[in-house]
Amino acid sequence: MTSRFGEDVESSLARLNRDRIERLATLAYGDRAWPMYCVLPRLLDRARPTVLISGGIHGDEPAGVYAALAFLADARHEFDDAFQFVVFPCINPSGFDANMLETASGANLNRLFGILSSQPEVRAVEDWLGRCAVRFHLTFDLHEVRPDYVGEGYTEEDNPQAAYLYETVTDRSPRIGRAMIDALPPGRAVCQWPTIYDDINDRGLISYPQDARNRIYAMGTTFDGFLTGRNYTGHAFTLETPTGWPLQDRVATQLTFLRTALRYATPRLGTTVPS
Ligand SMILES: [Zn+2]
Repeated sequence: MTSRFGEDVESSLARLNRDRIERLATLAYGDRAWPMYCVLPRLLDRARPTVLISGGIHGDEPAGVYAALAFLADARHEFDDAFQFVVFPCINPSGFDANMLETASGANLNRLFGILSSQPEVRAVEDWLGRCAVRFHLTFDLHEVRPDYVGEGYTEEDNPQAAYLYETVTDRSPRIGRAMIDALPPGRAVCQWPTIYDDINDRGLISYPQDARNRIYAMGTTFDGFLTGRNYTGHAFTLETPTGWPLQDRVATQLTFLRTALRYATPRLGTTVPS
């Protein structure tokens, strides 16, 4: 049976020839099953700075999946000397195929981290992170925002229709989110609202933990909250593009955010961190 996951994700992964592709889980729903993949170096060297990139926790936010795949295929080579990469390209393949936020069983995966959930996608990711025991230099969880999202006390008017990002720093790393926003070309609108889902938004940038006002994020059950809360990283990003834009613009925006962050985090590339 053909599927968007098979045609786009698995075929793209099959073209990678320098990486190791681990199948972390088989996700069975009804009479169908999907693999969950992790892409990592042939030899993971715990002494090297390691960057985690994840997409598709929400299945109806495809630009993150395509950006993670495009990064693996091409953009990462600029940074291969400075970093090694661990990539979960599509954490919710059943939702991706159905173009829905939840899994085929109805679970919102980004509310189930850190609570010993038995949800298989969450178990696969949490167990792998525990086994691997890498502390990441940076993490990026790639999301999108839909104009018609309604839930958790929010209505359609609450959904930004422009790009923005969350930057969490818990280890005194210099903040680089402003440079990521500023790197966007004119025409890629940035959300200028004073708040986004109750959090304080400064021209497209929500700085955690100090600007957090959203009670969902305060529970620490999101993937970025889990990664910083369990000290898998001290510097986590969640990137958001609006699904109302053409897909290619959303993917390009996610890649601009990724590239800019990695350039600023790479001293040997000669870029200094803005004050
Ligand atoms: Zn999302």
